[in-house]
Amino acid sequence: MRLLAICGLIIMQWCGTALAQDTRPLVPADDAIVSQFDAVFTDPRVQDALERILQREARTIEEQLAITEIPAPPFMEQRRAEDYLQRMRAYGLDDAYIDSIGNVVALRSGTGDGPTLLITAHLDTVFPETVDTTVVLRDGRYYAPGIGDDTRGLAVLLSVIEVLNQSGIETVGDIIFGANVGEEGRGDLRGVKALFRDLDDVDGFISVDGVRLNRITAGGTGSRRFEFIFRGPGGHSFGAFGLPSAIHAMGRAIAHIAELQTPRFPKTTFTVGTVAGGTSVNSIAADAVFAIDMRSNSADSLALFEQSAKEAALRAVEEENARWDSDAISVEFALIGDRPVGSTSVDSPVVQVASLAYAELGVEISGVGISSTDSNVPMSLGIPAITISGGGDGGGAHSPDEWFEPVDSHLGPQAVLLNILTLAGIAGVSEPTLLERD
Ligand SMILES: [Zn+2]
Repeated sequence: MRLLAICGLIIMQWCGTALAQDTRPLVPADDAIVSQFDAVFTDPRVQDALERILQREARTIEEQLAITEIPAPPFMEQRRAEDYLQRMRAYGLDDAYIDSIGNVVALRSGTGDGPTLLITAHLDTVFPETVDTTVVLRDGRYYAPGIGDDTRGLAVLLSVIEVLNQSGIETVGDIIFGANVGEEGRGDLRGVKALFRDLDDVDGFISVDGVRLNRITAGGTGSRRFEFIFRGPGGHSFGAFGLPSAIHAMGRAIAHIAELQTPRFPKTTFTVGTVAGGTSVNSIAADAVFAIDMRSNSADSLALFEQSAKEAALRAVEEENARWDSDAISVEFALIGDRPVGSTSVDSPVVQVASLAYAELGVEISGVGISSTDSNVPMSLGIPAITISGGGDGGGAHSPDEWFEPVDSHLGPQAVLLNILTLAGIAGVSEPTLLERD
């Protein structure tokens, strides 16, 4: 999970208002949703399941440590996926399978007449193969790359799956559990993109990602990343002087882009992150390339900025060609990253239910946030989605010093259980609160 802006324009009224120990629901809840939540929460089987989650938390953490030690670098999640598949089956999801892109997917059917909720955690880490993921316990903290982001989420789902099956609870709606590939970096959300391409009729989505129960992510910052590739004839710096240069054209383009203005609201950002090109100091460059990252909380602002950046590069090419009375320099735009922008309304049942669950468990939530997570994909499709975390304390995500400390960590899976049961509904006890989409 990438933590970015905390408060976005549309949801600012709910941000930053929590007082110390204020565990009232963060967002106002509809009476109808409150009554379904209460029906779920007071069901004796649910109370028993919550207790089981608490009792098995030590095992949940053991499982988290074991999975952490199976490395899952970007595009190399297969070993961890196969291990996870076995764990899902062992907890009663007999039909679990690995899909065409490498996601582990398992359906827990409801009574057949309700909405479909998809809940996932991501398999991949940011770390390359060479990084040691052995867990080290020091002063009550477990240190290992990837232990929180997102092995915590993976372990939380397993706890919920086992307890749910022990409980004998039948839901009204279907619940699809997933462990997906490709959340981080160049993974470009490809796992979740594939899930929403392949699964029909998903009505709502929850991503369980990372540690610390401090907010509900209901907005998705979008990003577009490109390589701008400049090409020209190249030649000897002295003998061929007079030819246009790919590097000079690139320099002009970066200078133009560096002057572009972006709005503060909706927050829109850019940077040219890397440059490369040329052959030697005494050659007119035949090639040059830079990589640019553009982000926004608004799809329109992102598209507008992308257009401006491309126009700036085309203008730079024209200028470089005109300078040498040539037409030999060209530029090509290669898309290397695409995370769609989206948001879920705070009125949405998925946000209301998460807020009620945290309040009931006494967890203080400081805000509704915007970030770049797997939820970006369903949000961009108009499917209500949130990202919540898996509980416990931790820090250092995306660094080799990442750590996890099991402080009240059972609250993570308990909240997940209350969320999915309230959204899907319990047969004979409560109606689903997740709306079926047309
Ligand atoms: Zn993550």
